[in-house]
Amino acid sequence: MSALLSVENVDAGYGDFQALFGIDLEVDEGELLALVGANGAGKSTLLRTIAGALKPFGGTVRFAGQDVTAEPDLRRARKGIGLVPEGRRLFPSLTVEENLQVGAATGRKGPWDLAKVYEAMPLVADRRTRRAARLSGGEQQAVAIGRALMGNPRLLLLDEVSLGLAPLVVDQLYTALPSIRADGTTVILVEQDLNRTLAVADHIACVLEGRIVLTGRADGITRDQVTAAYFGTG
Ligand code: ATP
Repeated sequence: MSALLSVENVDAGYGDFQALFGIDLEVDEGELLALVGANGAGKSTLLRTIAGALKPFGGTVRFAGQDVTAEPDLRRARKGIGLVPEGRRLFPSLTVEENLQVGAATGRKGPWDLAKVYEAMPLVADRRTRRAARLSGGEQQAVAIGRALMGNPRLLLLDEVSLGLAPLVVDQLYTALPSIRADGTTVILVEQDLNRTLAVADHIACVLEGRIVLTGRADGITRDQVTAAYFGTG
């Protein structure tokens, strides 16, 4: 079986600055891969490159067997790549429900609609008529995830969705994960909390200074190995 996503020898960055060097990564359908690494290691850059928000300097991104490297983010979203970027980015003057409806613009059919998002995230259902500007950080993040789900992605990219949130709020966000996975949705998760990451992930990839320095099954990798890769002391 070929992978749902293959990243092959990708170099990427911003202007003259190279942030990623020769990245190779394969993710199978239904898998949850966690990307770990220190601030500035290149995790967000890799997610943006996969989603098409950033064009790589070189290399190939293949999704569902097709080379999508030259395709912009909107076309990739229609093919089923959904990104929840760092920092939420909702429309502040729209209500929660209106923000969620924006996500359906991919035109993709699937299990996710308003009713299912509300069922998976009661926190969002309770706020459906409220303007996004008046939500707490955790509520905004939950809506950002719900909006991506409304597009019925085959591959969901979650970039530090728990950043700056209280642990209880993070727990609430993570309650949606089992129903996301139950549909066979493939997930790449960037998360700072290593314990949480090791608990939910099937596979782990550690990024250090723009390179993948460790990959493996989450149940076959120790916390010490991940920590050593994280700090480059392995
Ligand atoms: P963080 O947890 O801080 O988001 P990260 O692993 O996601 O870390 P990236 O955000 O991908 O790291 O950053 C990788 C490198 O690219 C860093 O050196 C960062 O300063 C740089 N970088 C990120 N965004 C830009 C940008 N828009 N313009 C220039 N350099 C950038």
